[in-house]
Amino acid sequence: MAVINYITQIQFEYGAVKLLQAECDRLAVARPMLVTDAGVRAAGLVDKVLAQLKNASAVGVFDQTPPNPTEAAMRVALQLYRDGKFDGLIAVGGGSAMDLAKAVAVCATHDGPLKNFAVVEGGVARITAATATVIAIPTTAGTGSEVGRGSMMILDDGRKVGILSPFIVPKSAICDPELTLGLPALLTAATGMDAITHCMETFMSPALNFPAEGIALDGLWRGWAHIERATKHGDDKEARLHMMSASTQGAMAFQKGLGAVHSLSHAIGGMNPKLHHGTLNAMFLPAVINFNASAESMKQANKLERIAHAMGLSAQSDVSSAVKAMNQRLGLPSGLAEMGVTEAMYPAIIQSAMQDHCHKTNVRIATEADYAQILRESM
Ligand SMILES: [Zn+2]
Repeated sequence: MAVINYITQIQFEYGAVKLLQAECDRLAVARPMLVTDAGVRAAGLVDKVLAQLKNASAVGVFDQTPPNPTEAAMRVALQLYRDGKFDGLIAVGGGSAMDLAKAVAVCATHDGPLKNFAVVEGGVARITAATATVIAIPTTAGTGSEVGRGSMMILDDGRKVGILSPFIVPKSAICDPELTLGLPALLTAATGMDAITHCMETFMSPALNFPAEGIALDGLWRGWAHIERATKHGDDKEARLHMMSASTQGAMAFQKGLGAVHSLSHAIGGMNPKLHHGTLNAMFLPAVINFNASAESMKQANKLERIAHAMGLSAQSDVSSAVKAMNQRLGLPSGLAEMGVTEAMYPAIIQSAMQDHCHKTNVRIATEADYAQILRESM
């Protein structure tokens, strides 16, 4: 059975952040708590957001979101939320801040530890409409978490798990590319490759969701055509606009499911939270494209040709090599080895990838040997 959902209200334009107070009013959020990280705050973006609110001095601010959000950090934010009697969350940042805010929104309104809400623990059925309101304001262009129904969290037991529910989709996404103009080059490249991976990987996933495929291909076109410009010239407003849309579109589309790139990235991200999710995806994408290419449903729907077309390449182009060359032009690492991944880590990575919620939505279900091969090719 195919379930197709498009439910977030998105304000999308340069200057959209000015609509924040109106969005709080629309959603009856009178006492918001803002969730962000120290880097976003240091860049002045928190002040810019707070300046849009009538009663900024009463807004709680949690600015200690780690690069890969943990259950421990979530507990601190949750306590702040409860102590301050706040009634909604404004997430300002990349995927980490948005995902942590979503986890707080669930835990503040439901009993039980965070792990109860993980997909792999049967959590989907436990998350209800009681979930607190989240307004998401992305400051990177990659994760698309502002329109996603997922939150990726590292539990106390070390697992990086997905918490998925239609009720944690932010009630409002404010996508203002202005907030990404100061994003450093390497972060622009890494987050941008995350967006491109979302578009490609969900397009290859076999679930029946044709609208998602259209959104993914258009997002891929925008991302691929503008990532170099946005990386090399951070103040290129047109490139930043298209990268922000590629990011939002990737996440709108990936309700269809992701795949082996993400199951492997989540596995490594759980083991070493310092490794950047988007950079890991960029390393795995070429090998997974090759792995997927022989799948019958890929051939029947001419999927690789359609991906090549969206990238502006000729139909018979080697898409996998094109991604590798792009990684190089963007100044990303040449492979996993450069990021500190060793062969000794393979068994743990593979075991965790096999448990990940993205494992089963890849177009070919990978065996342990397949994952080992993908890892070797991605070194
Ligand atoms: Zn991702």
